[in-house]
Amino acid sequence: MTHAIYPHLLAPLDLGFTTLPNRVLMGSMHTGLEETGDWNRVAEYYAERARGGVALMVTGGIAPNEEGGVLPGASGMQSDKDIADHKIVTDRVHGAGGKIAMQILHAGRYAYSPKCVAPSPVKSPISPFPPAELDADGIEKQISDIIACAEKAQKAGYDGVEIMGSEGYFLNQFLVTHTNKRTDEWGGSYENRMRLPVEVVRRTREAVGTDFIIIYRLSMIDLVPNGSTWEEVVRLAKAVEAAGATIINTGIGWHEARIPTIATSVPRAAFSWVTKKLMGEISIPIVTSNRINTPQVAEDVLADACADMVSMARPFLADADFVNKAAAGEAKQIAPCIACNQACLDHTFSMKLTSCLVNPRACSETELNYDTTNAVKSVAIVGAGPAGLATALVAAERGHKVTVFDGASEVGGQLNMAKQVPGKEEFFGLVDYYRNEVARLGIELKLGAFVGADDLDGFDEVVIATGVTPRDPQIDGQDRPNVVNYIDVLRDKVAVGKRVAVIGAGGIGFDVSEFLVHEGESPTEDIELWKREWGVGDPANTRGGLAKAGAQPEAPARQVTLLQRKSSKLGKGLGKTTGWIHRSALAMKNVEMVAGVNYERISDEGLHVSFGEARENPRVIECDTVVLCSGQVSNRSLADELEAKGVACHVIGGADVAAELDAKRAINQGSRLAAGF
Ligand code: FAD
Ligand code: NAP
Ligand code: SF4
Repeated sequence: MTHAIYPHLLAPLDLGFTTLPNRVLMGSMHTGLEETGDWNRVAEYYAERARGGVALMVTGGIAPNEEGGVLPGASGMQSDKDIADHKIVTDRVHGAGGKIAMQILHAGRYAYSPKCVAPSPVKSPISPFPPAELDADGIEKQISDIIACAEKAQKAGYDGVEIMGSEGYFLNQFLVTHTNKRTDEWGGSYENRMRLPVEVVRRTREAVGTDFIIIYRLSMIDLVPNGSTWEEVVRLAKAVEAAGATIINTGIGWHEARIPTIATSVPRAAFSWVTKKLMGEISIPIVTSNRINTPQVAEDVLADACADMVSMARPFLADADFVNKAAAGEAKQIAPCIACNQACLDHTFSMKLTSCLVNPRACSETELNYDTTNAVKSVAIVGAGPAGLATALVAAERGHKVTVFDGASEVGGQLNMAKQVPGKEEFFGLVDYYRNEVARLGIELKLGAFVGADDLDGFDEVVIATGVTPRDPQIDGQDRPNVVNYIDVLRDKVAVGKRVAVIGAGGIGFDVSEFLVHEGESPTEDIELWKREWGVGDPANTRGGLAKAGAQPEAPARQVTLLQRKSSKLGKGLGKTTGWIHRSALAMKNVEMVAGVNYERISDEGLHVSFGEARENPRVIECDTVVLCSGQVSNRSLADELEAKGVACHVIGGADVAAELDAKRAINQGSRLAAGF
């Protein structure tokens, strides 16, 4: 049967011994849930996504042995207890009508452990531990451990395994001379370098029999020096198919690559052209991946014959019901993954449990639930920024009668400024989602309504989500006409000169600088332009897909100097997995970053600064415009007014605490508050 909507995405896929109901694979994500030992929680996380209609899920990486774990204590499949624990997950998923494959992840030199092993003793730039070079017996041990791991996964009830061969992990390390310097049968010629991955697939198939899915995740563009050529990629894909793989999944870029591959500034479906090159070369299904986050993008990629299936990972954190909603023609109701990494990858790299900025329930399915209320209340929410909107959606979903007031003419609060920044276009989708959900859930929305304490009489619950106001940095001369703040620039679009000094290098200072150095189309909206900016080439012409000419960014639209008082590196507080991208992006546009300044005064010439406690080395940053991005303070005036009147209220988001505020905290706080009404 062909579906009327998303006909390619919703078409079944026959794998011979089993049929997948649609073309959507939930890609592997490390959540940290397995490491909690709470297998009921792990099972519920996957079962909720199985109920949501995804055809096949891949678990987070599971270690085949101690040396292959991403870090000491990483979850493994090595014992009878592991089999029993994982059985809880597979039973729950099958009970929900889903299918699940376990990813076998051997980290090789990427393991954050003194026990790490690799083809050659080449230390990775992202781990402090030099790997031990494996001898022939050591290699045989790794192969047998991986095969044993696959056999145990089968015993635990998995429908298949994904053998992780990309992203620069162990098997990938054998493939390229960047990390494989061996001269024995496992190194040297490409035939020798690909021996290990092919042998692993062949022996896995031998061990698990025919009716078991084997996905091989193949690095199609390494984005590191001396990476694979396209000819080698095709050769490996053919060999892996012959060795018994059921499906080939796409891996994009090694973890040490200096080109972003999944961040929000990467264009949607930016790498599907790479997967497309493999179509027709092999006969087993091929999956494409990276920055696919809506049903339409996924449909377009499949309709364009880039792949047989699409892999989406983070979108299933944002909304477990992605596929069901798409199939029901309710795509607008899908909470969008904005690719921010703030609650998923940034958490992983900070050793915290994964969640999702737009969906705090992700990975908390057993703990945070939005149950229908037995006692309907009238709820007033002042402020339609993310804190207020999250509260409103959850309260309304639970059956409460909700009214939202905002003085602005549009919902979204500060997200409406964030979306103006080149590379942050995904925020448009998030604001659209909120607007649609407010309407769908019958929330009474009063825009253009600046509310005072007297407007809030008679409600059962009053929520103050009035956000923040810019901090006054009290710099001599800041009242001059050549001084503006981030709201003037991003919301009110006041004219800004060609030479600009940006005061404050927090998230907003970086974003404003990004806004000011760009003009014309955002590279995030134009794949070819983005590839040029970052130096992505075709692996058919250049090893690893690194453009021979390197990065070729467009000339900056303005000369920007970004300043802070702290002496630390600028951007140190930005996201763990994205800070380097913001710093590189501004460096490519010649933004000068100046730390450790004292702001002395602003004059016709520009910004006068000095350095150190002794206020030495005076310097004038010559500029036409100074932009203040010096942080924010809570807007509590309404909360204070209510308190003075003796009216109880809940204060959330920026109105509660301005320091280190972000949308993740605002949404989390609002959702949890409304879950308790
Ligand atoms: P706000 O978003 O400030 O919303 C408050 C709302 O209250 C406003 O709409 C205002 O009009 C309304 N209001 C105030 N007083 C009244 C009143 N008396 N009556 C009626 N209405 C009133 N965060 C991230 O997590 N990731 C990012 O990438 C990110 N990028 C950003 C980029 C920029 C340029 C900016 C400015 C912010 C960014 N943020 C980002 C921060 C994020 O937007 C804020 O943390 C978040 O919006 C705070 O949410 P809030 O609901 O508390 O307040
Ligand atoms: P911020 O991150 O707190 O940065 C404020 C900047 O202003 C700092 O660089 C600070 O550096 C400077 N500053 C503070 N007090 C000052 C003063 N009195 N005079 C001059 N400079 C001063 O805040 P923000 O940039 O306004 O961002 C607000 C929130 O939005 C942040 O908490 C952030 O998490 C969030 N946000 C997130 C993202 C994201 O990508 N995740 C993007 C944008 C915003 P010095 O004190 O060293 O001068
Ligand atoms: Fe997507 Fe951000 Fe949620 Fe991660 S935290 S799943 S990137 S929206």
